[in-house]
Amino acid sequence: RAKAEGRGGWRFFEPDMDVEAQARRKLEFDLREAFARSQFELYYQPIIDVKSGRASVCEALLRWRHAERGMISPAEFIPVAEEMGLIVEIGQWVLREACRTCATWPSDVRVSVNLSPIQFRRGNVESTVRAALADAGLSPERLELEITETVLLQDTPTIRLSLERLQSLGVRIALDDFGTGYSSLSYLQSFHLDKVKIDRSFLVGIEVEPRAMTLLRGVARLSADLGMDVIVEGVETQQQLVVISAERSVCGVQGFLFSRPVPAPEIAAFLGSERQESIRVA
Ligand code: C2E
Ligand code: MG
Ligand code: MG
Ligand code: MG
Repeated sequence: RAKAEGRGGWRFFEPDMDVEAQARRKLEFDLREAFARSQFELYYQPIIDVKSGRASVCEALLRWRHAERGMISPAEFIPVAEEMGLIVEIGQWVLREACRTCATWPSDVRVSVNLSPIQFRRGNVESTVRAALADAGLSPERLELEITETVLLQDTPTIRLSLERLQSLGVRIALDDFGTGYSSLSYLQSFHLDKVKIDRSFLVGIEVEPRAMTLLRGVARLSADLGMDVIVEGVETQQQLVVISAERSVCGVQGFLFSRPVPAPEIAAFLGSERQESIRVA
């Protein structure tokens, strides 16, 4: 401020740029502070197995309650953390925390963790994963990693090798947000991934527009034929669930219809109550 009003006082006539740059610097500062002070939290959202009607996996989703601004969406702060490189350390924390929490759940429930492409580029993902599993005493079969096309886009021998090594440990790899990026279909063939999560944009109009369901069905069957488990994200209504679960190639559903992402104690309670009475899927 002082600087801007002193010798660089002319900046005063470009207030927008100044305000934007300052807000950005403040966000970066606050992110570092929040991380140093352990102010991040993980929420969990169940993914329901269509056959059993039970939660087979819970996805860990990062939450940041800012002192002045309240909850800030990961869609806003994760790109900033990625540009700062801070996502590597945050990502390590997420893995450890998610594995520790999963270790307290019923043993047939897995945890799913989102990985940033930056973690593959700058961090040693494989050793981070190994350390997190060992630290929590969690079996690798109970961990799933969600990656996006951007990771596969970097297609290098190193990426292939780290994915294969993780898989040979028993960790499952899921392709997240499928269908939102570019030429995704070829990735399905050339990488041997375990799961595909079909983006919720495929659900628009699905209850009323047969062509929308045709598209979803096509992608789901293609993925299933290539040996992957198919998950549909963003299920919000019973009508959507009815049409989706009629498609045999879909094996899991996730969305607000079943549960919003909730704090660890709440997901533990959900997983507990769910033991008695499974959710009616179809
Ligand atoms: P994502 O991995 O695709 O996660 C699913 C997002 O969809 C979550 O948003 C979730 O709250 C939201 N969602 C779930 N069901 C529904 C529904 O029925 N309707 C609608 N409208 N939305 C639904 P969230 O938690 O805001 O996270 C946004 C994105 O931020 C995530 O998308 C993921 O890409 C990223 N993210 C979150 N946590 C982490 C993390 O720990 N590490 C990294 N690298 N990225 C993360
Ligand atoms: Mg995800
Ligand atoms: Mg997703
Ligand atoms: Mg998404």
